[in-house]
Amino acid sequence: MSYDVIVVGAGTSGLVTASLLAERGKRVLLLEKHAYLGGRAREYRYKGHQLGLGSHLVEDPGDSFTRVCSVMGLDLVHSERSDAMPFWTNGKGWAPIQEQYSGAAKQGLKRCIQALNDVSYGELETWNHASLREWMAQYTADEGVYTVWEAISVLEQTTLRPWEHSASENLYTRKLHYSTQRTAGYSFWPMGGWDALWHSMVAAFEAKGGEIRLSAPVRRVDVRDGAVQGVTLRDGEEVPAPQVVVSAPVWDLLRLFDDGALPWELRSRIGMLAANRNRACWIGYWIAAKEPVIAMSEREMASFLSTPRCGLPGFTLNFTGYDPGVSPDGEYLTCVGASFDATEHYGDRAWLDRKFAELWEDIEEMMPAARGALWTKPHVVTSYGVITKPGLVGPVRPDAEVRGVEGLWLTGDTTRARGIGIDKAARSGITTAEAVLGRRLEAFAGTMRY
Ligand SMILES: Cc1cc2nc3c(=O)[nH]c(=O)nc-3n(C[C@H](O)[C@H](O)[C@H](O)COP(=O)(O)OP(=O)(O)OC[C@H]3O[C@@H](n4cnc5c(N)ncnc54)[C@H](O)[C@@H]3O)c2cc1C
Repeated sequence: MSYDVIVVGAGTSGLVTASLLAERGKRVLLLEKHAYLGGRAREYRYKGHQLGLGSHLVEDPGDSFTRVCSVMGLDLVHSERSDAMPFWTNGKGWAPIQEQYSGAAKQGLKRCIQALNDVSYGELETWNHASLREWMAQYTADEGVYTVWEAISVLEQTTLRPWEHSASENLYTRKLHYSTQRTAGYSFWPMGGWDALWHSMVAAFEAKGGEIRLSAPVRRVDVRDGAVQGVTLRDGEEVPAPQVVVSAPVWDLLRLFDDGALPWELRSRIGMLAANRNRACWIGYWIAAKEPVIAMSEREMASFLSTPRCGLPGFTLNFTGYDPGVSPDGEYLTCVGASFDATEHYGDRAWLDRKFAELWEDIEEMMPAARGALWTKPHVVTSYGVITKPGLVGPVRPDAEVRGVEGLWLTGDTTRARGIGIDKAARSGITTAEAVLGRRLEAFAGTMRY
């Protein structure tokens, strides 16, 4: 069997690229190193609950990931969207985030929204090296207004400090949501869960003639004389193809290439982005309980910039509120995450142990229903994505096309995407599929991407 395109990685972007190429008649081989689908958006069962490695809510306003499913003949059913954004302030407790600004400050937020509607996506490119706050300061000096969009940024990108909220990256997503859904943020849970969705995507891909191999790690992408030749698997098998799309995140990317295979400046940029200090990291708890562990409502997206004891910013989400099928009858599943600085604390066991203990005490104070938890599952996340701070977004990220290596393409949310997340990875997958095909796909003519 010969292939037109090999796609490395069956996470969101790899599945999207492979699906669209197969749908357009390309003979595609999709290779995934793990035995499971979804990559960072993998889902698995734990004590009867659907737990994600990642893959919480997806921010697709309808024109990207949802449309890919539709092109492949699948119906991605959105849960009801979130209905509240509680925000925690030490001393005051939970309150709707709208209470952060009032009176004249409301005009400041309106000016920001108006400016966002007026600015073009192209103009946002000039804000890659500035913080969100610097952009907002043109229209308001109100701290509460800054907090609103920065809190959304904490929810979306788990960034640690205000200066890490890149203006262009955030505004891109805000503009997308305001223009398509008339709201600052639109997120939903895919009804039925992620695992079912990934499997139905693969079935649709195979129905279009695609072939997938799980537990098939690629050892090397073979490049000779400035052109891709195919890949070599870890077991030594060589699979030739004139085009290879790699969806591995930047921290897995370089080991797939021999020295000198990639242009040196691309290699340097990937190495810089992949550094531990540039990873968005968090510590968190999965919590199962007999009643919803929430701040204010079951379908909220709640956030905080600092908890009483551990002092970190983060989020809490009650998944059962979006889809009761996530949990066994009469049980509820919540995830709480708090971001930390990988530069200072990567691998620092004592610090992490202390923060986990403090975070749990914080959770019990902030959401008392947690005290009756049936079980908790602490976790450390070090692979959420590349921090979207000024200087690490925009053109510094690898493009879909690897110039200088014919037939080599990259995709995924650590490449030239905007923000971290499934929708971002899906948009990148669409861009890459179109780059390989050499033309825009009609179904995505109106879809904003990078
Ligand atoms: C804990 C956590 C929570 C998250 N929460 C959310 C959320 O709420 N909402 C949201 O939208 N996003 C969330 N995300 C982010 C989301 O999961 C990612 O943005 C998205 O899945 C990235 O997709 P991708 O295709 O770019 O990369 P990946 O999912 O990383 O896919 C890359 C794939 O390549 C494979 N691969 C790598 N090397 C090789 C090789 N040598 N050979 C073969 N295969 C290889 C990997 O196994 C993987 O399957 C979360 C992530 C994490 C970790």
